[in-house]
Amino acid sequence: AHRENAQKHIAVFAFPFATHAVPLLSLVRKLSESVPDVNFSFFNTPQSNQSLFTKGNGFERIEPRSVDNGLPEGFRIGRNPHEPVEYFLKATPGNYKSAVEESGLTFDGLITDALYWFAKEMAEEMRVPWVTYFTAGPRPLLVHVDTDNIRSCMGINGPEDETLEFLPGFSAIRSGDLPEGTVSGVDSPFATLLHKMGQILPHASAVAMNSFEEIDPIVVQALKSRLPNLLNIGPFILKSPPPCGSDIHGCLEWLDQRPTSSVAYISFGSVITPSPHELKALAEALEACEFPFLWSFRGNVEEMLPEGFLERTKEKGLIVPWVPQLTVLAHPSVGVFVTHCGWNSVTESIIGGVPMICRAFFGEQKLNQRTVEAVWEFGVTIEGGKFTKNGTMKALKVILSSEKGKLMREKIGVLKQLALEAVDTDGSSTANFNFLVEFITKL
Ligand code: UDP
Repeated sequence: AHRENAQKHIAVFAFPFATHAVPLLSLVRKLSESVPDVNFSFFNTPQSNQSLFTKGNGFERIEPRSVDNGLPEGFRIGRNPHEPVEYFLKATPGNYKSAVEESGLTFDGLITDALYWFAKEMAEEMRVPWVTYFTAGPRPLLVHVDTDNIRSCMGINGPEDETLEFLPGFSAIRSGDLPEGTVSGVDSPFATLLHKMGQILPHASAVAMNSFEEIDPIVVQALKSRLPNLLNIGPFILKSPPPCGSDIHGCLEWLDQRPTSSVAYISFGSVITPSPHELKALAEALEACEFPFLWSFRGNVEEMLPEGFLERTKEKGLIVPWVPQLTVLAHPSVGVFVTHCGWNSVTESIIGGVPMICRAFFGEQKLNQRTVEAVWEFGVTIEGGKFTKNGTMKALKVILSSEKGKLMREKIGVLKQLALEAVDTDGSSTANFNFLVEFITKL
């Protein structure tokens, strides 16, 4: 093993699916700016690294390194987005171990996505501290850390409408809002992974997360009692905005021409495409309402939306494959975010002060959705949990043209202010980030 310029070197293990690796790389970028004498190796699949390391800017001391994606020869991505994840997980931790070995480097620290419970043992073998990054919010983290407690209080496969009175801050949350694998489907590989993660995280040197303490004080307090080294350092996107948020489709100019708080912005993140049936219902609702809309659309618009829809809505609608979402949500014309409730999307909606219409699909999305609706009260769940024409029209009207909608906007404005304060010079997230910087400096 050799050392480059006798500098410290930290290994980073990214999780290459959904929007996990982006926030982890943002954290590493900011750390590399804050601790100038440290090199980072960013271990990730070649595919994910390729999309992350498109530009050299700001990445000088971060070296992308490849890990095997575990896919069988000739594998083709089908409709099930979980399939590549399952193959990948089967390849862990062996693929990371080999990649570290092949690098020939000696590391002084390990930073990983929190999902990688196996990193604790690897860090011990490497005799280095292990810092984890949980890329979602405090509620799913508490659920994962307390899974055994939840199972013993509620049992497995019980009624979906039973509430979690026994867990701090969870009296409005029902069993059916919990991520799959918590109290049902407990034997799936992903459920096992999350369960192990929850058990092992208390042993990490630090658990950083992309959230801020003021967002959910009771839950954060409960978490701190279980994870002594919890560091809320977010919303991190405010500290380290994405480098390539350019607006090639002209969304911002289009938004400039719409009235204040009038536009419905629609996106379901990087993984999900709703069923053809739901897409049709959503499109019909948008066409029937007077509100302008901006839709970040994955897939072939002509094939997937009703015939003639584009032509009939061209005056009030803009459909593009990708938008600079943080900037879009911060634009004064945007009045509502129709979202799958991925954590990054919820956070960016808070930063933009935009109420939400929630259509959660899997993972912690349902928990986020329920929290938005019943705890924070700045959004609604789509009626019946799926897009129908009438349900969608109703939700759009509540948020864009009712007093209730205005109240939601005020409520999310309060949380937006708290988010901005958290990352300000004297804020809680800044203090926590500085603590992390000091920890890394002392390695
Ligand atoms: N995003 C974007 N432009 C788009 C659609 C999505 O920049 O047109 C970004 C969005 O800002 C967010 C991420 O993709 O940071 C989606 O993350 P989230 O956690 O909400 O969902 P996931 O992709 O993990 O399902």
